[in-house]
Amino acid sequence: MSKFLNEKIRRVQAYVPGEQPKERKYVKLNTNESPFQPSKKAQRLAKEQLKKCMLYSDPDCKELLSLIAETVGVGVENVIVTNGSDEVLNFAFMAYCDENTPALFPDITYGFYKVFADLYGAPKKEIPLKEDFSIDLSAYERERGTVFIANPNAPTGLALSLTEIEALLRSNPDRVVVIDEAYVDFGWESCIPLIQKYDNLLVTQTFSKSRAMAGARLGFGVASKGIIEDLNRIKYSTNPYNVNRITAAAGMGSLLDNGYFEACCKKIIENRAWTAEQLKALGFSMTDSLGNFLFVRHEKVGGEALYLALKEKGILVRHFAQERIQEYNRITVGSRKEMEALVEALEEIVCGQ
Ligand SMILES: *Cc1c(COP(=O)(O)O)cnc(C)c1O
Repeated sequence: MSKFLNEKIRRVQAYVPGEQPKERKYVKLNTNESPFQPSKKAQRLAKEQLKKCMLYSDPDCKELLSLIAETVGVGVENVIVTNGSDEVLNFAFMAYCDENTPALFPDITYGFYKVFADLYGAPKKEIPLKEDFSIDLSAYERERGTVFIANPNAPTGLALSLTEIEALLRSNPDRVVVIDEAYVDFGWESCIPLIQKYDNLLVTQTFSKSRAMAGARLGFGVASKGIIEDLNRIKYSTNPYNVNRITAAAGMGSLLDNGYFEACCKKIIENRAWTAEQLKALGFSMTDSLGNFLFVRHEKVGGEALYLALKEKGILVRHFAQERIQEYNRITVGSRKEMEALVEALEEIVCGQ
């Protein structure tokens, strides 16, 4: 850190992304990436844009915006596209959290919420999940501030129903509720339809996980016209060309290739069920995850020990050295071949105890 850095940023503890090792070829099950390639159509359309890269991208992303709006069943005035969904979350924190408006989120959830809250100097109210890791809705109803909930939640994979989200929205119409649907495509229902009824709801989604485009950086937010205008005000005050033309084209290709998207999601869901069954047979317990990951623990092997033993065998998973969940590991659901390698490694580790 230099002596020039301002006080505000000095206080922030930056987000630590999952490892992206170069030194060894790992089976990578630590950052919830897709094991599949992006859609061929996405690849083709992206490639066509390479030769046009001397030109700025369309700052309004009109074509992509219309296609997303059509796909999720809302108007173009209800959508903003961003550089990954991290960017729309960043905009939401910037717009709706400050010294006087706390950020409310579960104690166990996506680690970035905490970082954004610090970045904008907003008090954090981390609301403990219940004993079974489900979200304690009544606690949110009592508190003041902007709510951030990943649904399904990470790393637990547990989800709130639309009825529960609606109750949360209704409990206080004077605050914004952000529902982060990074994992919704792996078997849960989107709450996007609720934006028609609630002008305090912002739903975020990403192309990183279910659309196999983590490296392209594409996400979007869906909300009332007013909220989208707020977020666009920030976008046009920071980076109007936030989505580059290659990524925008890839995003269009992915949306136009719906069959491939659905087939990929279906495979992940099948592999999740298969892996869960295998792991239970080895004595693991786990949450009923609706994400492209399992959140698992074993009676006989500690969380960190398991992480290290798997790493030794060339398999990377995500361990969080955090209270309440240090005995768990989050394991991305990959291809069947990767899951077979995982099960084989876990068998050796568990039986060696
Ligand atoms: C992965 C993830 C995101 C962000 O993904 P982007 O790659 O920035 O789109 C947001 N929220 C949750 C809960 C995630 O797991």
